[in-house]
Amino acid sequence: MPASRLRREGNRSFESELPVQVELIEGKLRLSVNAFLVIERDQYILIDTGAANSWEPSMGLLLQALNEAGVAREKIETVALTHTHEDHVNGLVAADGSDAFPNLQRLFVPKEEVSLFDNIERLSRFRARRTPIENGFKLSASITAFEAHGHEMCHTAYEVSSGDESLLIWGDIVHVQSIQFARPELTWEYDTNQAQARASRQRMFRRAIQPNYYVAGAHLSFPGVGAVTLYGDAYIYTPV
Ligand SMILES: [Zn+2]
Repeated sequence: MPASRLRREGNRSFESELPVQVELIEGKLRLSVNAFLVIERDQYILIDTGAANSWEPSMGLLLQALNEAGVAREKIETVALTHTHEDHVNGLVAADGSDAFPNLQRLFVPKEEVSLFDNIERLSRFRARRTPIENGFKLSASITAFEAHGHEMCHTAYEVSSGDESLLIWGDIVHVQSIQFARPELTWEYDTNQAQARASRQRMFRRAIQPNYYVAGAHLSFPGVGAVTLYGDAYIYTPV
């Protein structure tokens, strides 16, 4: 990602004054791309699917990662999307053109993203199978859809509860973790609605600072899961 894609309030690019804590690799920001698997009894529920072979050559390792985790892709019968950008949806189709998850039964797409989903040629075979969902929809006994609009018009997070612990799989609430926890007001050029994205991030951060609460981000660096704490008027992210 070119560093100039990060913008501050008022949309003024500030590449020339990028804070030192934002690490650049050959002038570019590193952007991890994660998907998350939730196993609930005998259900295997995948949140997002990565980009498969459709973007950078360093991406598209989801099926290999599942393999390494001892999870056969045939086991995944449910996929839920946070939104419809290519790094979240294109992994529904494997690099060889086959269905990445041949036993897919349920494909949940946030309601206002359905028209975007239906425009993606690569995913045309799934149009008949996708189910629109709304805020508060229960994916399973432990997973609830949670609206977090802004990055895309119906960007949606998924809150997983287990005992007294919760995990918010929050999609694209944070793209640049080295700065957006400290400066949650900073948005990203690829946020479709900048003001809404900013408000959603601040709302998710306030939720995330509860005790026994964790977050999982599509673009947080490995392991992509951590805890958020409040420090003054900024937030601190601690990977687990
Ligand atoms: Zn993304």
